[in-house]
Amino acid sequence: MISKTIVCDVLVVGSGVSGVCAAVSASRKGTEVVLVEKNDFPGGTAIIAMHRYICGLHLKGVGLEVSRALNKLEPENKIIFMGKLKVLPFQTKHLEIVLRNLIKAQKKLKVFYNTTLFSLNKEKGLILSVRARRAGMILNIQPKVVIDASGEGVVIKLSRADYQLTPLRERQMQGFSVRLKGIEVKDQLLSIKVPYSLRKAAKSKEILKCFRFTTFVFGSAKGEGFCKFNIPYIRGFSINKNAAIVHNYLRKALPEFKNSYIAETSPCLVEREGMRLVGEYILTRKDILASRKFYDAVVRGDWPIEFWHQKNGQQVEYLKPGRFYEIPLRVLHSKNIKNLFATGRCISATSEAIASSRVMGTCIALGEAAGTAASKYARTIS
Ligand SMILES: Cc1cc2nc3c(=O)[nH]c(=O)nc-3n(C[C@H](O)[C@H](O)[C@H](O)COP(=O)(O)OP(=O)(O)OC[C@H]3O[C@@H](n4cnc5c(N)ncnc54)[C@H](O)[C@@H]3O)c2cc1C
Repeated sequence: MISKTIVCDVLVVGSGVSGVCAAVSASRKGTEVVLVEKNDFPGGTAIIAMHRYICGLHLKGVGLEVSRALNKLEPENKIIFMGKLKVLPFQTKHLEIVLRNLIKAQKKLKVFYNTTLFSLNKEKGLILSVRARRAGMILNIQPKVVIDASGEGVVIKLSRADYQLTPLRERQMQGFSVRLKGIEVKDQLLSIKVPYSLRKAAKSKEILKCFRFTTFVFGSAKGEGFCKFNIPYIRGFSINKNAAIVHNYLRKALPEFKNSYIAETSPCLVEREGMRLVGEYILTRKDILASRKFYDAVVRGDWPIEFWHQKNGQQVEYLKPGRFYEIPLRVLHSKNIKNLFATGRCISATSEAIASSRVMGTCIALGEAAGTAASKYARTIS
């Protein structure tokens, strides 16, 4: 295998929304940045799970840029209220374009897709180098600072940083989506009819019990809709087989689905929470519900705690109306690895706190803050 050595200031692992924003902000601060991503596209969970709404978006910094760029591609989509909460509708193909353009525009940012980080070399509490695999090649990357934006905490794990990991049986449900076409839409009630029908079918054991937490949203094209599955951790679960079973059931149960077909299925299950950092501070449920402020605040969040319980389904705890909480810089910085930062789903937060801060809008802002902080740290190292 060919081996290539790359020296950089900041290495970002993972190009989900948070990783892209971290890489963009670090490169804008004048540091040399490398971004590695195991897939061949940016956007991570949001693309794989076919999201329709950006939740928790603050129209500031890179968040504002993303919203403006999306708006150019889909002018009909404006921020809307979903119940008490504001969300920005979007199409995943447009998000991918926006993120690719953001990356391309940075002179000091090199991106490597189809590249998987797999090992790490550390000494005296400092990451010295990491190795990543890429089509017949090993990249030996020597960064001053690393940002774990992998969602699953791959750098946290390899560097043996102090970490938090919720036991499987207590972890929030994972998910996948199915995009359907050919739905005959007579009314907007399918968002209620589909979950109701699947709950009933799960109760009478016509389909697996785990499908009782499915939601439905319309797509932007005529006859398009998305079934969003939220499922507990089940061994040997097959996405394609189960998507077909549920779709067959819907075709029989609801006339609107009679001529529908599956256009796309998530390629894998996506997790709501993975391995997270233990930082200099751990964000908690109490901080969120009390709209707590911090002296070293870098991000604002106002999304409720939306906990997807494996037995009881979605449980929502709102902040008081008009309030927001702050996220301190300390939750982005490892307690025991000096040059390790985390962002997005990997930050130092409890399982309940991450149920609020993991939404895309907050992850975008966290990425921007992590990139700025990592770049500043890199400048302190000669
Ligand atoms: C089922 C579900 C539904 C959701 N619905 C919504 C919603 O409607 N709206 C909303 O705003 N939020 C929603 N969220 C939350 C939100 O999508 C995610 O929390 C957010 O997108 C996470 O962004 P991230 O950048 O932290 O991580 P991710 O998007 O998970 O990105 C991590 C990236 O790291 C890469 N990676 C992992 N390991 C490696 C490695 N070893 N080497 C290289 N690359 C690696 C992955 O391929 C991935 O691209 C939902 C989450 C789930 C699970």
